[in-house]
Amino acid sequence: MPSDARINILKNLKRIVIKIGSSVISHHEPGKGLTQGLNPDMVLHYAKKIKMIVGKNCQPVIVSSGAIMAGRARLGLDRDRLSIPEKQACASIGQSFLMYTYEKKLEKQGLKAAQILLSNDDLGNRKRYLNAKHTIETLIGYGAVPIINENDTVTVDEIKIGDNDTLSATVASLVDAQALIILSDVDGLFTRDPSQPTPKGEAPAELISQVDRITPEIEKLAGKTTNRLAVGGMYTKVLSAKKTMNSGIPCLLMNGLDKKALDKFFAGEEVGTLFWSDKKKFGSRKHWIAHTLKPQGSLFLDAGACKAIAQGGKSLLPAGIKSIEGKFEFGNCVSLIDEEQKEIGRGLVNYNSRDLDEIKGMKTSAVRTQFRNNFYEEVIHRDDLALME
Ligand code: GLU
Repeated sequence: MPSDARINILKNLKRIVIKIGSSVISHHEPGKGLTQGLNPDMVLHYAKKIKMIVGKNCQPVIVSSGAIMAGRARLGLDRDRLSIPEKQACASIGQSFLMYTYEKKLEKQGLKAAQILLSNDDLGNRKRYLNAKHTIETLIGYGAVPIINENDTVTVDEIKIGDNDTLSATVASLVDAQALIILSDVDGLFTRDPSQPTPKGEAPAELISQVDRITPEIEKLAGKTTNRLAVGGMYTKVLSAKKTMNSGIPCLLMNGLDKKALDKFFAGEEVGTLFWSDKKKFGSRKHWIAHTLKPQGSLFLDAGACKAIAQGGKSLLPAGIKSIEGKFEFGNCVSLIDEEQKEIGRGLVNYNSRDLDEIKGMKTSAVRTQFRNNFYEEVIHRDDLALME
């Protein structure tokens, strides 16, 4: 029996973001190492699914990984660890091969592929973020299928979006999709790591069919382990689901190696794990502050300030700041940390870190005297402040 939530998603589906993980479109021959490369048959399979989705009057937007994997194979680099320039070189070679393959396979379905490479710099700048949005809208209007990836070749670790789970969540709210599907090589979120033997006397791993709220327990289940195959690879996926849930977009984790997974979803079957949400927590700008911008520093707040912003809907004033960390400029995004070291929100600061270090804890009237022309009453105005759960 499909759940009401799943029926609801299908009923309202006009636009969907599908993230295709590297493991879904690579060859899988045990013991053959890391250089097996891109599997064009899987790309063809997904090109056909994209055609099926278009046939349902739904607009697909694809976030595809696989550039580094494909490039590594073309270069024959079987080593486990690659340096950053090596990965970037792989991405450069692999991305063109990846797009060439999508282009060919989509062409067979009568569809046009459109490459979009995004970086954190593009998404972190409101103007460039909106530009990307307009371009994608135009492409969709032309009936093209946007194939998005991070611009790995030019981004280094500190400024990277990081992973395509995160990128796909950002894209889902960028394009106002009604659902995000993340296809990887696992069936979904389990009650325990399914690749590990069940300890004696404990219940075996079970697939969780639906999550309505990301609780600390769910985050813990996703774990931050290094095991990419099981629960470990879940952490960024669960954080991405949290992002889309905050914009009222449901997110589904499914096994993309199961060639029937998308058909099952479109038939309303219980496949994968559904992170269900139909309520927007933030408008699009606050969502962008909370989930797209990378915080450049942290402000540690006293209990009074936390209460005022979390319960009283107030702006953040200098008096409630106990200490600051990091180097940031006017307008940058910072994290707000409570006395239990929990991040309670993010916002755009009206003071740089040097000035804020001087005025932290001060009364507003004293700050006014000190800054005169450059005075802001609020360190973060409530319009620029997004509270986390
Ligand atoms: N952008 C990377 C690539 O195309 C993949 C990153 C990821 O899968 O998280 O190889």
